[in-house]
Amino acid sequence: MYNRNLDIKGSGMTSQRTRNRLVQLLRNKGIEDEAVLHMISKVPRHLFVDEALSIRAYENNALPIGYGQTISQPYIVARMTELALKTELPLNKVLEVGTGSGYQAAVLAPFVKELHTVERIQPLYMSTKQLLRELGYRNIRAVLSDGSWGLAKEAPFDAIVVTAAPEQVPAALLEQLAEKGRLIIPVGQQGSAQALQVITRHTEQDYETHIYEPVQFVPLIRDTSTSSSTTS
Ligand code: SAH
Repeated sequence: MYNRNLDIKGSGMTSQRTRNRLVQLLRNKGIEDEAVLHMISKVPRHLFVDEALSIRAYENNALPIGYGQTISQPYIVARMTELALKTELPLNKVLEVGTGSGYQAAVLAPFVKELHTVERIQPLYMSTKQLLRELGYRNIRAVLSDGSWGLAKEAPFDAIVVTAAPEQVPAALLEQLAEKGRLIIPVGQQGSAQALQVITRHTEQDYETHIYEPVQFVPLIRDTSTSSSTTS
């Protein structure tokens, strides 16, 4: 899928002009962080989808990336990035759960020191890891694993961004937040109301939840083999 010359600059429907139109749309929809909008205008989203879909890459839509998964809508990527950056903590270590196409990781990575991103579908993990390497991202570490358990060996995290929706917030993710760290996560059932939540860890035991807008994400899947191996 990614064996092609990486045309980062793009042309026509992937050109800077088309990207700037997307940025204006996101600004109109309420994205306020200009640094995030600038990043959206720079990251070549057309390279994160199949070539046949590249002409639709700068529409504000989710698109299929295979294996029943989708690249998130640019608006929601901008929104989650903006929410992750609204913090007093320097973002030294950040975790993304649900690597998928790698697009959210590519938009977030320039703002953080070290971004760890986990994916449970092996072919997606492999192709995205290669793409991110080819695009020159040196501070993204891709890991193949079930992110509903977080990534204990790298915890604590200054922020955790989850790009698939659990029905309930996984306890491991709360535990792996640093003090003052923030968890940005869509929560809710498939096909019914999901809401974007930001949970801040004030102190060891004190968490505060803010509920933002309704969203629609693919489900966060808990791999039963992983859970049984940790519970038995
Ligand atoms: N951030 C991605 C969004 C991809 S969709 C992007 O910008 O393209 C969500 C992804 O989460 C899918 O690739 C799906 O396989 C992955 N996912 C779902 N449950 C997961 C889990 N428990 N652990 C890790 N990844 C998971």
